Amino acid sequence: MPHINSELHKIKRIAILGSTGSIGTQTLEVMDAHPSLFEVEVLTAANNVDLLIQQAIKYKPNVVVIQNEFHYSKLSLALSSLPIKVYAGDEALAQVVEMDSVDMVVMAIVGFAGLKPTLNAIDARKPIAIANKETFVVAGQLVTQKAKAAGVNLYPVDSEHSAIFQCLAGEFHNPLEKIILTASGGPFRGKNLDFLSNVTPAMALKHPNWSMGAKITIDSASLMNKGLEVIEAYWLFGLKVSQIQVLVHPQSIIHSMVQFADGSIKAQLGLPDMKLPIQYALSYPHRLPNSFLRMDFAAYSQLTFEEPDTETFQNLNLAFQALENGGNIPCILNAANEMAVDAFLKEKIRFTDMPHLIRYAMNQATPILKPSFEDLFETDLNTRLLISNVINNKSTIWKD
Ligand code: NAD
Ligand code: MG
Repeated sequence: MPHINSELHKIKRIAILGSTGSIGTQTLEVMDAHPSLFEVEVLTAANNVDLLIQQAIKYKPNVVVIQNEFHYSKLSLALSSLPIKVYAGDEALAQVVEMDSVDMVVMAIVGFAGLKPTLNAIDARKPIAIANKETFVVAGQLVTQKAKAAGVNLYPVDSEHSAIFQCLAGEFHNPLEKIILTASGGPFRGKNLDFLSNVTPAMALKHPNWSMGAKITIDSASLMNKGLEVIEAYWLFGLKVSQIQVLVHPQSIIHSMVQFADGSIKAQLGLPDMKLPIQYALSYPHRLPNSFLRMDFAAYSQLTFEEPDTETFQNLNLAFQALENGGNIPCILNAANEMAVDAFLKEKIRFTDMPHLIRYAMNQATPILKPSFEDLFETDLNTRLLISNVINNKSTIWKD
């Protein structure tokens, strides 16, 4: 590949945190296509020990970590004949990113659990390809300030944020007027609250354009995903809240747009395929050739746009409200949402109960303006306790 400069020929040793998930497995696919550029150094999972074993046997990383210690003996037995170090537990998971042999971390863990390893990776000065949007929601200020102070680059993997990042290439000094975050609208676009109150997890798990992990798929159906992405964009790109617009674009071809001070708008387009933003985050500033399906404009005679229906899908405005309030309130939004999504998936609550639970948790908040990691940890825990109490006691106090 003579057109790619020599810097890229230095093999990058990658730690994939959450290698068994949707982003994790697609990261491995991207790396498979470029064996001279990327090498697997670390693989981790929470519970999917069988897939982690398969991945370890195939990629022969230096280290694997299983978060749930229950699976440790199975994992270490299965890999005992290989020169692979095997660890278990939250502490090992957070520490593994600090290894000297790690050149880049792919943060593909879902939820609050991604925060501690992300902070450790920043402290260890590792560049991060970051898919875990919850990190920005919970601790956007802490994470971006630390990264800036340490000179650590955070490369967005989320497709919308990758799109904005790509639109900003070469525009570093040019003032932004706003960004336009596109949203597919999810499987229930156009439906009313009556319909939504009866949807099942199976219905909500059928996303029209993307195949993703369960949590983000439910978030996409409830528009919370776009709310979390608003907060993610705010911190990643240093924006004002008024500079972030959400626009429903059901075809998911335009992945997001940037409008500059002169009114000019740049968009990044392509078929919905997470491998592209993953690859861009791994290879930035280079673009690598690949064999992903190409977009055929003639097959899309119409690209359409509409305002989000925030009366029916209340989560989007709750996220804007949390961002305006700041401090630990977005952490409360996130924890309440993680609990609500889990309860919905277990059929303990209805789809339409989710925003009520989240609003209830936000209203009960003890605000902390500049939360430390410890404050955020406590806020997350307290919010989880609050929500699990009202769900398990079948209390209706939160039904406003
Ligand atoms: P997933 O559920 O498919 O995978 C999550 C991974 O994290 C798995 O490997 C799992 O074992 C691990 N994990 C889960 N809980 C953990 C814990 N407590 N501690 C340690 N490891 C844990 O999720 P996903 O869809 O791949 O999403 C990962 C992240 O990327 C999420 O934050 C999501 O919002 C973001 N994201 C995903 C997509 C997508 O297309 N899937 C797109 C944009 C952003
Ligand atoms: Mg996204």
